[in-house]
Formats: sequence, C-alpha cells, structure tokens
Amino acid sequence: MRQCGASTPTEVHMDSIIEDQRRTILAVDIGGTKIAVGLMLARLDGHGRMQAMPRMLRGHSIPTGARQGGEAVLKRVIDAMRECLDAGDVPYPLLGIGVASAGVIDGTGSVLSATSLIPGWTGMRLREAISAAFDLPVSVVGDVQAHALGEALWGCGRSLRSLLVAALGTGIGGALIVGGELVRGAHGACGHIGHMPHPDARGIPCSCGRSGHVEPIASGIGIADNYRRLMRREGRDAPPVDGGEVSALAARGDEAARASLVLAGHAIGDVLGGLVNAVDPDAVVLSGSVVRSGRCWMDAVNEGIRRQTLGILERTPVLVGTLGSKAPLIGAAEALCSDRSNEAHTEETSHESAQ
Ligand SMILES: [Zn+2]
Repeated sequence: MRQCGASTPTEVHMDSIIEDQRRTILAVDIGGTKIAVGLMLARLDGHGRMQAMPRMLRGHSIPTGARQGGEAVLKRVIDAMRECLDAGDVPYPLLGIGVASAGVIDGTGSVLSATSLIPGWTGMRLREAISAAFDLPVSVVGDVQAHALGEALWGCGRSLRSLLVAALGTGIGGALIVGGELVRGAHGACGHIGHMPHPDARGIPCSCGRSGHVEPIASGIGIADNYRRLMRREGRDAPPVDGGEVSALAARGDEAARASLVLAGHAIGDVLGGLVNAVDPDAVVLSGSVVRSGRCWMDAVNEGIRRQTLGILERTPVLVGTLGSKAPLIGAAEALCSDRSNEAHTEETSHESAQ
C-alpha cells in the first residue's frame, strides 16, 4: 500500500484493511456561521469500524461567509479542507472525507433543503463536488445528525444502542440512533423534532413556514420570544435579550424569565416524552446551548417527559451531551467509516452470493 503525502492523499480500499489499522479522516462541519475542519486519527478494526473515539490531529475554523451564496461557501469549504491537509504530515493513509452540513441531506449526499441561513445551499451536490475535488470517498450527513452520531457512539451514549437526541440551540433539531446506526429516513429528514406540534405554540409562526410547532417556543430564540410575550402581557417593556440572557435573568430571580424557561422546558419535554412512547430508546440525549439554561429549565424538561411517557418508559434516562462543539466532526468521521464498512460488507455479500 502506498503511503500518502499531505497533498496527494491515497484512497484506501476496505479489503486492504486488517485488524487494528490506523487511518486519517478529513472531517468538516459546515454551519451557517462557521466552517470547522479537522484531520482526525481513527483506529479501525478488521471490518473498518472505529474502535476508539477519533482524535483530532489538527484543525481550524473559518467564517462561513454565508451571504456570498452556496457556490462561494462550497469553494471556502474545499479551500479549508485543502489547507488542513497541507498544514503538515498526514501520518496514516487517508480513508476519505466525512462531511456534516447544515440542511437536509439526501441519499446522494446533496442538500435537499436548507434554511435561508446559507442562500443557494439547497441543491448543492456536496458529495459529488468534494469527491471530485479530492478524488476520495465522501460521506455527507446533516450537521445535527453528525452531532448525534458523535454523542451516541463516542460521547454520553457510548454504551447504549438506541438514542433519541435533541439538539437545542438557536433552532431545534434532533436525530434518532437505532442499533448504533443513524436513522436517516426516506428523504434524509429524520429527527426534525423542532417541527413537532405543541398546544402552547398554537398560532405562533415557525421557521419552517408552518405554525404551532415547538421550535418557536422552546429554542434559544423561542425562549427570548416567550420572555418578550410575557413582559408585553404584563404591560412591561421587554429589553432586547437572547436566550442566554433570559437564563441569566432567571438565575437572578426574574419571574418572567423563569416562566419563559419553564414554558420552553415543559414544551420540549412533552414532545420528547411523546417520542419516547413512539420509539422506546435506551436514553434521551439533550445537547446544544439551551441545555445550559439552568435548573428550572432542566426540571421542566424532566417533568414534561415524565408526564407524557407511558408508565413502563418513565425511567428512560435523560442524559446531557458531553462532546460539545467537537461532536459533529467526530460524527462526520464516524459516518464515513460506517458507510465504507457497510459498502465493503455489501460487496462481500454480493460476491459470495454470485459464487
Ligand atoms: Zn416548524
């Protein structure tokens, strides 16, 4: 097998992988505000599965420059990846590229839909473009799905087989892991838990264009909106605040701020409780900036989950993510390994049945 240099990476065929091989993987996380890229070191078993949490050898991030549009963002992504590869030695053969991207990613690695955060991102053929630029295998998953995969396999869910993950930040996303594998759904859209309906959100417009969904009352933006609505209802002026500032106000005893957080916590708790009944996961994982909203929010989430779950499921553990901002890069690397390993297995099976 040829060793690869920094600028001429070599594809590794799965049939050449033997027990406990070290490989490098280039991982990239494309968000609405920043692009993070990392060269990851992975240890694989004889089936091409990761044996330990991938370790970042080097990495950097740059602003997305979303306003310049999809094509310009894709060029920045490719430039950032090339810069990361060229920044030093690539100590082990490069297995491929794992991409975590904003938006809904379909089975061909293209962006099926994206919010207005990156204009022109919808329709981008990410896998095709990145694979052509580097001549390497590429796997693409949604950024929240990658985050969930990272947490499920190498973070707080690592000993568990099935997880319902809620990513609670500016918006609300989620993902479902079953049997250690990401469930992508027929269109790649599995896990959009922010767009589950909730009675307290009735009539409130959602970022998706519908109304009555839980996101506008339980996301970071939603918590701030709840606060402004409560203040207006009491005839008081609401200062311009974000979700984090509402948490700080609640910690100082501000009643309207506490009520905003409790409303948000109950609402997402209700939705998660209903989903626990439908899916019966080993655990629920909460991640994202809203998780740091304080005790009254966390108590409300747990209360919401408990009051909705069936009796036999009410002890389903509720965990908090541990990997932080590294989770999507770890998940993207994991997605690449998993896809490569599954492809190799499929090839092996069809070869055997042809004999
Ligand atoms: Zn919605």
